[in-house]
Amino acid sequence: MKCTDGESFSHGFLARYSKLELDPSAAILNYGQGLLEGLKAQRAKDGQILLFRPEEHGLRMKMGAERLCMPSPSVEQFVDALKQTVLANQHWVPPPGKGSLYVRPLIIGSGPVLRMGPAPEYTFLVYASPVGNLHKGQMSMKLVIQDKSHRATPGGTGGIKSITNYSPVFKPISEAKAAGFSDILFLDAATGKFIEEASSCNVFTVKGNVISTPALQDTILPGITRKSIIDIALSFKYQVEECLLMVEDVMDADEVFCTGTAVGVTPVASVTYQGKRCEYKTGDDTVTERLRTKLAAIQTGTAEDDFGWTSTLNQA
Ligand code: PMP
Repeated sequence: MKCTDGESFSHGFLARYSKLELDPSAAILNYGQGLLEGLKAQRAKDGQILLFRPEEHGLRMKMGAERLCMPSPSVEQFVDALKQTVLANQHWVPPPGKGSLYVRPLIIGSGPVLRMGPAPEYTFLVYASPVGNLHKGQMSMKLVIQDKSHRATPGGTGGIKSITNYSPVFKPISEAKAAGFSDILFLDAATGKFIEEASSCNVFTVKGNVISTPALQDTILPGITRKSIIDIALSFKYQVEECLLMVEDVMDADEVFCTGTAVGVTPVASVTYQGKRCEYKTGDDTVTERLRTKLAAIQTGTAEDDFGWTSTLNQA
């Protein structure tokens, strides 16, 4: 779907996966004017295909587009484009439990612009690819907190899925991986005291009956999995706090877990800060596992979707 600046996206079409033709002076190539989204289509036991909270992804994309001076499709157009893409690729949706079809919507400033400023033309597109289960079953993460790099700054774009948010953390993440960690738990750039999130997932702690997660601000992505886990935790009668989470709170937790479309709910086995390593409870008998199981069951249609979060696709 294409549109010019100041207008709305009108009609789209299905096309085979192929290369895009862009001007060398396209705004996305020169100024990174672009947004991404990511969600999964999963196959239920009865063969139906389910999308998880597609409207929420459409709303988040709309918010992000406003911040980046870009037009966005309406939520209805967004969901319709997702459904058409998934249906056209339905044979690529793996059987239940064997992974999912990852769906990637993009809005890019595709028009040419030499002066620094928004593009004169935009493209909205959706592509899809089958993926395995990233963090299978009991897999856990080892995180490190460090002071030297930040993911987002106040007033910046950390709270939206701007394409430019990701490559600046490639170097610190690859260094962390080389040191044996799975990801970095980033601290806020303003004070260096508060936990924000990892490179592509939100974080929670469990202490007794209390589940805590950093309160949303413009440096933290409002994860759709995060929001869903808060609702599931409340339905299980846990106390949920969205707060300023300090390094000490994380080090003192019973359990730590990450949430995101790609990782689902993944337990954190350890967090290391300034050479001190804390280990957490993982495994079957944990709050993390209880939340993970419930979310996965809703997403794959094996539990009643009391929250009305899944959209079923009508297959031919
Ligand atoms: N934080 C960041 C920076 C992310 O890129 C993602 C992935 N979208 C998340 C958190 C988790 O968000 P969601 O649960 O909507 O996938």
